[in-house]
Amino acid sequence: MTTYVYDFHQGNKDLKDLLGGKGANLAEMTNMGLPVPAGFTITTAACREYLAHGKEPDALRDEVGEHLHTLEQAMGRRLGQTDDPLLVSVRSGAKFSMPGMMDTVLNIGLSDASVPGLARQSGSPRFAWDSYRRLLAMFGRTVLGVDGELFDDAVDAAKKARGAGNDLDLDEADLRGLAEMFKTIIRDRTGRDFPQGPREQLDLAIRAVFDSWNGERARLYRRQERIPADLGTAVNVVAMVFGNLGMDSGTGVAFTRDPGNGDQGVYGDYLQNAQGEDVVAGIRNTLPLTALASIDPPAYDRLLSIMATLEQHYRDLCDIEFTIERNKLWMLQTRIGKRTAGAAFRIAVQLVDEGMITMDEALTRVTGAQLAQLMFPRFAAGGRADRIAQGMNASPGAAVGQAVFDSGRAVELAAAGIPVILIRRETNPDDLDGMIAAQGVLTSRGGKTSHAAVVARGMGKTCVCGAEEIDVDAHRRQAVAPGGVVVHEGDVISIDGSSGAVYLGEVPVVPSPVVEYFEGNLVADGSDPLVDAVHRIMTHADGAARLAVRANADTTEDAERARRFGAVGIGLCRTEHMFLGERRKLVERLILADGDEEADAALAALLPLQRGDFVAIFTAMDGLPVTVRLLDPPLHEFLPDLTELSVRVGVATATGEPVADGDAALLVAVRRLHEQNPMLGLRGVRLGLLIPGLVALQVRAIAEAAAICRGRGGDPRLEIMVPLVGAVQELEVVREQAEQVLEEVAVETGVDVQALIGTMIEVPRAALTAGQIAGAAQFFSFGTNDLTQMSWGFSRDDVESSFFSRYLDLGIFGVSPFESLDRDGVGRLVQLAVDEGRAARPEIKLGVCGEHGGDPDSVHFFHRLGLDYVSCSPFRLPVARLEAGRAAVLDR
Ligand code: PEP
Ligand code: MG
Repeated sequence: MTTYVYDFHQGNKDLKDLLGGKGANLAEMTNMGLPVPAGFTITTAACREYLAHGKEPDALRDEVGEHLHTLEQAMGRRLGQTDDPLLVSVRSGAKFSMPGMMDTVLNIGLSDASVPGLARQSGSPRFAWDSYRRLLAMFGRTVLGVDGELFDDAVDAAKKARGAGNDLDLDEADLRGLAEMFKTIIRDRTGRDFPQGPREQLDLAIRAVFDSWNGERARLYRRQERIPADLGTAVNVVAMVFGNLGMDSGTGVAFTRDPGNGDQGVYGDYLQNAQGEDVVAGIRNTLPLTALASIDPPAYDRLLSIMATLEQHYRDLCDIEFTIERNKLWMLQTRIGKRTAGAAFRIAVQLVDEGMITMDEALTRVTGAQLAQLMFPRFAAGGRADRIAQGMNASPGAAVGQAVFDSGRAVELAAAGIPVILIRRETNPDDLDGMIAAQGVLTSRGGKTSHAAVVARGMGKTCVCGAEEIDVDAHRRQAVAPGGVVVHEGDVISIDGSSGAVYLGEVPVVPSPVVEYFEGNLVADGSDPLVDAVHRIMTHADGAARLAVRANADTTEDAERARRFGAVGIGLCRTEHMFLGERRKLVERLILADGDEEADAALAALLPLQRGDFVAIFTAMDGLPVTVRLLDPPLHEFLPDLTELSVRVGVATATGEPVADGDAALLVAVRRLHEQNPMLGLRGVRLGLLIPGLVALQVRAIAEAAAICRGRGGDPRLEIMVPLVGAVQELEVVREQAEQVLEEVAVETGVDVQALIGTMIEVPRAALTAGQIAGAAQFFSFGTNDLTQMSWGFSRDDVESSFFSRYLDLGIFGVSPFESLDRDGVGRLVQLAVDEGRAARPEIKLGVCGEHGGDPDSVHFFHRLGLDYVSCSPFRLPVARLEAGRAAVLDR
């Protein structure tokens, strides 16, 4: 038979699933011999039954009765006993802490009949009436659903009538009056009287806590925190101890270390003559906990000694709630305390130094998400500026600058030393220079995997994207925010990439010392405890990791930064930017070529440029592998915009002006290459198979660059990667061409240029036929961006801003599958390809180069699949390194 109720003596801290966090820790403290009021916990299983069937399990009533009886015997009083009532609190407590999301009712058991008994026993009629009015208000609001403001308003009115500054000035008569008034409010609003039977109060309160699991606030919180909706909450029934018995009583919260920055010491707040909810409600100003040292020295000493005991026992920062009843200290709750990212790193190494935990454990006490938070510059606290719009938090950080509306202007102003924010409706590869020049990027369209977001994250640049409430007008060089607020070019704005907020005016920014450390500008020499802690933990993570971490980099600067940030190679060097800017004309000539001769001339002009790019990158990554990906994007991206060109030609024709040189031919080509679904069109390997000489050009540039580097005494390590392969035959054709060029270059240069040739696995068919493809591939690199796009049929450039927020609201997924790998779907494809690829070619190298390579959750999944490496943008490298180390330790 299932047991639904556990006495505090029967539980322990490891039973959080069943007893919730609060119940498990109350049990633990009870068994440690700490002063915990007696009580019992109703399990989450009871709550789940209740939620499933709409009524409590049959056995629950009797079980609660038995445990209540035990409690009454221990306390020597019965619940609500008229002459000396035992009162209890009923508190929710789920497995994961959900602060303030669910309900608590104090003073259960009190009634008209027992208030005089409580007054007599406590020697304080004021206290008895204070306790009763608190019960009536809490019960009315929480259990009976009465609007809580009605009670608050009545208290305010009573204070006003008495000219009282705070609730301590209300006397017995006032409180008695309030209690009567509250009973009337309850009767008027619910059509029934406040239940006077103690057991009925208890049962209704328990049910209300069960119901609060599905309250609106709780549901929202769970979705945000990704807490499963089906866990249910436990309910703790605890004998009341009173902090509101006079100035020798009180209630407080304490932390064993500073949860803000990790400093060792005594932190917390204390409120005299008060019950717990007064601290949270902020109705009176609290005192710093250290004040208790002079208010009640013995209680303070006892508290400090218990805090030390708890820290030793839990081996972590503990967060505590306590009450002092007439100089006697009672522990009401403890748990592992929440802390800021900086405090997490510092506390982890402090605990190692104090001998409480090992370095392995320290590594599990921090997360990549926390490290990421430490890496972005942020707005200093207390800055004042007007928030004018809200977008998506695409790339964290804080950026301030003058608004500019095109890339050229951004570059111009930045060159003159003026910080700018580039504002665009959406960005495209042409905006790259402007994005590099800008402090941050703001777009009104596109989601977290839009061009702006992906590129900005890659650069570590602050970005707010998809701020749809802003109307961007690049022609008039202005943006209009809600309420008609106009941002003109040159106006200073501030954007917060961590929250998505957009401000008019300047909010002060402070740089991150952690980034300065990774950049090599700061060393861990004891001068900054946070930098020291990060250094020690990162060093340990690198030692523990099995998964290598490479970078996605296609410029020398990125490659150099990647090395500084700890990359052991480049996992994805996209070559498309090498065809843009000045060089785009050459690509245009190649596409429009009328015959081999013209095409060859264009290719010949591109060759030295490409070779130069690769020499620079191989030099920056000397001795480490560089995976160069052959050209991927659809050709039309290298041609002028169809609409613009059509208008130009159309206007010229209509006005009888001569059509500009080449425009007519260009228009034909642009029309011919125009695609309805470019992402599913002529891109990737398909380009290489269609445009003669393209593969040969790129491979030759790679091979010649390697020969040059070798000639200079360097050690280039090449991997040539073919994108968008869906069938082994595609790869075979390209591979044959590539091998031929490699041989030619070897003969011409006298340098034996070696390169691995492999493929991306980013089309579902490639994953499904990985066994065949492995026959022609020396490595696989999972392109999880495209693999996600094509598995779900989601256009990666469109869906995040169009309907993902709705999907998240509906709980269809808890997080965007472009952000964190969808293990059940896309993950299965990866698993299949890993298994079949390895079966066909045991020595095959396996990596990931989609955005997921830098996502903590996904890194753990890739570790478990046994991949060789993940590759991510340079700024995400530290996070990936940390998570690779954590994955290995957690796996042990
Ligand atoms: C991918 O699809 O995951 C990938 C890395 O390629 P791209 O993002 O360039 O399409
Ligand atoms: Mg791709």
